Amino acid sequence: MKPKVDKELCIGCGACVSLCPEVFKMGDEGKSEVISDVDYKENKAGIQKAVENCPVQAISVE
Ligand code: SF4
Repeated sequence: MKPKVDKELCIGCGACVSLCPEVFKMGDEGKSEVISDVDYKENKAGIQKAVENCPVQAISVE
């Protein structure tokens, strides 16, 4: 259930970070990163929202 951000696709819009700051953060290069050591299950709804709202479909869930 761990999400993954494809940095090649990410345009750094920040939507995922706003929607689910528990799981996503802005990293170097202005691209989104998945925070490790998070209970992804608990944040499932937020992750789903981020997946749906990413304008370039850069977020996938394993
Ligand atoms: S919503 Fe998508 S494009 Fe925007 S920062 Fe997150 S991963 Fe990148």
